[in-house]
Amino acid sequence: MQKNFWTEETISTLLRKHGLRVTAPRIAICKQLLAQHCHYSAQQLHEELAPLHPTMSPNTVYLTLNQLAAIGLIRSFNIDGNTIFDSNTATHDHAHCRNCNTLVDLPSNSEMPPVNMGEWALEWGTRLWSGLCPDCKQSANTTSAS
Ligand SMILES: [Zn+2]
Ligand SMILES: [Zn+2]
Repeated sequence: MQKNFWTEETISTLLRKHGLRVTAPRIAICKQLLAQHCHYSAQQLHEELAPLHPTMSPNTVYLTLNQLAAIGLIRSFNIDGNTIFDSNTATHDHAHCRNCNTLVDLPSNSEMPPVNMGEWALEWGTRLWSGLCPDCKQSANTTSAS
């Protein structure tokens, strides 16, 4: 997806298609999320948008993210009790650094759940791999060597 595909116009069309009213906060949040594959908690996204949109409340960001997740434009999952919103809606796993909280996408080796779920209509799933990122692995090695 091209970065400049997500204009105010394409986002408005998309929101309307899903029965959501077009509001300035929704446009701003969609622009930030959909133009790139990224992961945000509601708090992180609010912090990022606050300088540009000082009237946007944390609660608005939180509610909007949940609405976007409910209509499948983004996905959400939990890490350590925090809800993470993900703009990459393709099936993929995640690697999470337990030391610095870095989170990256991993290709998933299966598009389907590992067991046959019969009549269920499963839409998305992600496995979370925990460990150390290259930087933290490096400093762990350095510390233990000295
Ligand atoms: Zn790390
Ligand atoms: Zn992801």
